[in-house]
Amino acid sequence: MSLSQKNLSFEFFPVRTPEGRAKQIHIRQQLRELSPSFFSCTSGAGGSTREGTLQMVRDILAEQTPVAPHLPCIGMTEEEIKILLDEYYALGVRRLVALRGDIPSGVGYGMQGFRYANELVEFVRQEYNDKFQIIVAAYPEYHPQAQSAADDVKNFVRKVKAGADFAITQYFFNTDAYFRFVDDVRAQGVDIPIIPGIMPIESFNKLARFSDLCGAEIPRWLRLKLHSYADDTASIKALALDVVGEMCERLLDGGASGLHFYTMNNAELTTTLCNRLEKH
Ligand code: FAD
Repeated sequence: MSLSQKNLSFEFFPVRTPEGRAKQIHIRQQLRELSPSFFSCTSGAGGSTREGTLQMVRDILAEQTPVAPHLPCIGMTEEEIKILLDEYYALGVRRLVALRGDIPSGVGYGMQGFRYANELVEFVRQEYNDKFQIIVAAYPEYHPQAQSAADDVKNFVRKVKAGADFAITQYFFNTDAYFRFVDDVRAQGVDIPIIPGIMPIESFNKLARFSDLCGAEIPRWLRLKLHSYADDTASIKALALDVVGEMCERLLDGGASGLHFYTMNNAELTTTLCNRLEKH
């Protein structure tokens, strides 16, 4: 089966300037050549990028491509979520990534609204039935705030049972963690697709910063090798293509039914990786 017959999706984050928007339209044009199932748009928790995300959603729909806006629910009331979902539905959105999000600084737990993603999934199913396909996040190396690995798996299963259609994982560089996670949740009756999230590595510093925040482990050998390249972006990209490319092959060969790319608003590495995989 070729890559384009698998579930392929590309993620973008909102940009602030008209130049950024024009550049993003061009990038999406390039990535559309790879026949993705949809593009997804991140959104800042607490509605912090509401306008930017909405603009991107409108742009993508105008390009006749299915879109999945991310909806982090923390810091939003039920009413606010309903207004946003009604607006998305009226625009033509039919799938979304239902998330808790990260609590904005200065805001505490226990306030109005939802505390966890499973509550949002339940709410969307209750209010909108099957109008939206619901995607949730999965963490093969476990969420950084999880009490324990077992608790995190249990909480993931809770989200699925609340009505998720499929999951996209946090990025990782350790395929064993992904396969173990899939086995563990399958053993608990989860049969939805769990699509690996793929991070094409562009810069060591950015990757190290993100990974520390989200709990994705960069293997020691890879960290040291990337670090040793300093500003030599050509060597970083060459290594990234080899390492991430091999990882994608292992994931697809091992049964992953698709790939979700964290494009970081760039087309180059994602396109090269997908073209290589197409020949695999
Ligand atoms: P949850 O599933 O609610 O889990 C959060 C933590 O709480 C976990 O430790 C879990 O074990 C625990 N937990 C879950 N349910 C319960 C429960 N019922 N009782 C007790 N504990 C529980 N963030 C953004 O702000 N914007 C985005 O656009 C965005 N996009 C993302 C896309 C993907 C594919 C991924 C993987 C992450 C994304 N994130 C985004 C980051 C995400 O919001 C954070 O990782 C956040 O901390 C957790 O969100 P979640 O939906 O996974 O939370």
